[in-house]
Amino acid sequence: MNYTSTRSKDVKISSAEAIHQGLSIDGGLFVPESIPKVKLEEIGQLCSMTYVQRAVTVLKKFLTDYSDDELAESAELAYDWFDVTAKVPLIVLLRNKEDTKAPIGIMELWHGNTSAFKDLALQILPHLMSKALKKTGESKEILILVATSGDTGKAALAGFADVPQTKIMVFYPDGGVSKIQRLQMVTQTGKNVNVTAVRGNFDDCQNGVKNIFSDEEIRAKLSDTNVKLSSANSINWGRLVPQIVYYFSSYAEFINAGNIKLGDQVNVIVPTGNFGNILAAYYARKMGLPVKKLICASNINHVLTDFFQTGVYDRNREFHKTITPSMDILISSNLERLLYHETSGDVEQVKSYMKELSETGRYKIGATLKKRLDKIFYADYATEAETASIIQNVFSNFGYLVDTHTAVAMSVMAKYRRETKDMLPAIVASTASPFKFTAAVLNALGENVTGVDDLVQLGKLSRRTNKKIPKNLESLGTAKILHEDVCDKEEMAARVLKFAAE
Ligand SMILES: *Cc1c(COP(=O)(O)O)cnc(C)c1O
Repeated sequence: MNYTSTRSKDVKISSAEAIHQGLSIDGGLFVPESIPKVKLEEIGQLCSMTYVQRAVTVLKKFLTDYSDDELAESAELAYDWFDVTAKVPLIVLLRNKEDTKAPIGIMELWHGNTSAFKDLALQILPHLMSKALKKTGESKEILILVATSGDTGKAALAGFADVPQTKIMVFYPDGGVSKIQRLQMVTQTGKNVNVTAVRGNFDDCQNGVKNIFSDEEIRAKLSDTNVKLSSANSINWGRLVPQIVYYFSSYAEFINAGNIKLGDQVNVIVPTGNFGNILAAYYARKMGLPVKKLICASNINHVLTDFFQTGVYDRNREFHKTITPSMDILISSNLERLLYHETSGDVEQVKSYMKELSETGRYKIGATLKKRLDKIFYADYATEAETASIIQNVFSNFGYLVDTHTAVAMSVMAKYRRETKDMLPAIVASTASPFKFTAAVLNALGENVTGVDDLVQLGKLSRRTNKKIPKNLESLGTAKILHEDVCDKEEMAARVLKFAAE
């Protein structure tokens, strides 16, 4: 199968090339030329497979230039050490044994290294990438540069640590991430990793990295030391495709749990930021997974809710900092892929929307496209108070603890069910462990955490709810600090060159 660009019909490359390049030179995103179909019978066969086997089954349909062995090795290396055998367990919430009518399956995507769903993709991307380098004959070492406001940094570090032919360097704002996020990053082991704090805020880090990427002189100097820059951000196809797997896997788990039969329709609810996770669900649906509606849940930065409800995408609005920071986003990059597929590959149309977006911050889609999206999507958002109250409700009704992002999804699911009376079984994407957002979760449960240290909060939440702290977070207090570099924002390029030469 070949890949093309959302902005040019002339692009035709292999999946390894798409993963290697990341972004198309025309500014577009790589998309598969066609979408492979999966028969119900094949979905049924997933039921008796392990997660790694399911991953190979789904990945091979898209990554046709990788062998089964390469895919299996990548998936094993990525998911082997997840803290549960299922890798992505589905927890079915039922009020009581008789209440089997409208089951909710919580798809726990946070059993990896950083306790958030980005691990599912960032743990396997490095292996797909290093194999892509071999396949495309790349001889240079790849240096992954990341600017992080907290979560992506650790997930990328954990994924790329000690992966052959790669190096990874993460910049974070000094004093601008939580204590836990900082500890997660500065304790990262691995011979090919560097973590540097920048005296400045996240925008300074992000701009610094962008400037380095577009600086010809730096690129030339790096090239002399046989190094090439790349990024691990969420528009790389290699980050998207592993996310399709868990929708199939969770459907199989739902069958195994006895709550649905093969072929039954379900709804899928995803707490959304950059539109990566829900786009993976869209691909699964297009491939033939029996999904009725994709429910797009936002926080009060509800650009996407407005887009799906009105057909107008408008980023010109106030930006809010919320208790769901991973969804505090006004430009959802992956939406471009949806526009491409739902206009049947009309690259001129996609280009003109994206041009309007970059020039005016706004675009309006046509009536035909709007109608097509209406058939597939439902969108709404949750306020901060609604989010907190869901955490409390779910805990008291089911004894189950959700993080703030998952709570946004559950709140929107409840709105959907009330409004449409559609009570189909639902799969809710649970994107982070509640222990990642301890303060907000404790607050929602009525506890006061003012002045309480982050690490102390972990224990407090564990005692309050009788839930186990994930090992990777629990060990942070005693892990050795390995990275103490701090630099000014003007020094970032020099630090990159120094690390590249090491
Ligand atoms: C990144 C993230 C999201 C948003 O996912 P997108 O793919 O960007 O839509 C939601 N929840 C958590 C916890 C995240 O880390």
